[in-house]
Amino acid sequence: MNVSRGASLLKNLSHRRQGSALDAFVSSPWPSARHLVLAASLVVLAPGRGVHATAAPVPLVTGEPSIVAPLAVAGVGLSGRALPTVVALDPGHGGTNLGASGSGRGVFEKKVTLALADRIRVLLGESQGPEISVVLCRESDVMVPIRARARCAQDSGARLFISLHTNAVPAGVRPGSQHGFEVFVLGPREVEDDATLAALGSDDDAAAVWAAHEVRAAAEKSILLGRVINDALTQALGPAARRGIKQAGAALDVLRGTGTASALVEVGFLDHPEEGMRLASVEGREPIARALVAAIRSFVQRDEDREGLTRASSPPTAP
Ligand SMILES: [Zn+2]
Repeated sequence: MNVSRGASLLKNLSHRRQGSALDAFVSSPWPSARHLVLAASLVVLAPGRGVHATAAPVPLVTGEPSIVAPLAVAGVGLSGRALPTVVALDPGHGGTNLGASGSGRGVFEKKVTLALADRIRVLLGESQGPEISVVLCRESDVMVPIRARARCAQDSGARLFISLHTNAVPAGVRPGSQHGFEVFVLGPREVEDDATLAALGSDDDAAAVWAAHEVRAAAEKSILLGRVINDALTQALGPAARRGIKQAGAALDVLRGTGTASALVEVGFLDHPEEGMRLASVEGREPIARALVAAIRSFVQRDEDREGLTRASSPPTAP
């Protein structure tokens, strides 16, 4: 598809732009009737899209460790049995990319994010509720390219993707002068850019409409995910620690192209004397890990409810 044709096709789509006001989204029905109608009509035109099957290890890049995707996702497998929901966690940084530094010796963001992701995985396995399968986009101290992290979410068929980070003040600001957590989702401009790119990369008009729709639908879900995370961390850490849900001010490229609800969380300032100490300790991270587990379960439940997805515990029987 050439650019002008793709652009006019997109112009003719009557989707409203996403993210212009978080509150407007929150008060609106979701998924919108328009999305549902579009989805219902296009699933026939684009069979197979949105249906995840499979399984094999997904190579990231040559020389990088593989991510083992679960056997199947998205509700119900070929046997008719309910399948675990997949959650992708991305421990920020890794390898030579240390991330923010703490005041203690050897305290780096890359270690904190990996330890936090590991703990969330364990807690999700122990917590009550439908089975959730966790995919870590980095399981060891290695550098993983940004695009490979996004592909980790997409290829594993994850229902949500959270990139975990710790903060540090920018150059020129006194270390220790800022604290608290903040949550990021993609802004409307990036979403529209991604929708256009997805459409332009499609084989025909129907696929282009579907691809653009999927990007916008994921962006709407991302705002809900951001809110749920923000609420859970506020409850755990107190309103004084809340710095807000933002759409700019951090490197958000990792959220692009995931194809699913995606948020980046700066869980605290590693360069703050007290907060940094907490983040560097198992006990200090525990409330954050538990809050994120609660947020993940809450989002998954709400997302599935809204889809009207029934998760039968046994295969359906013939009428
Ligand atoms: Zn970071």
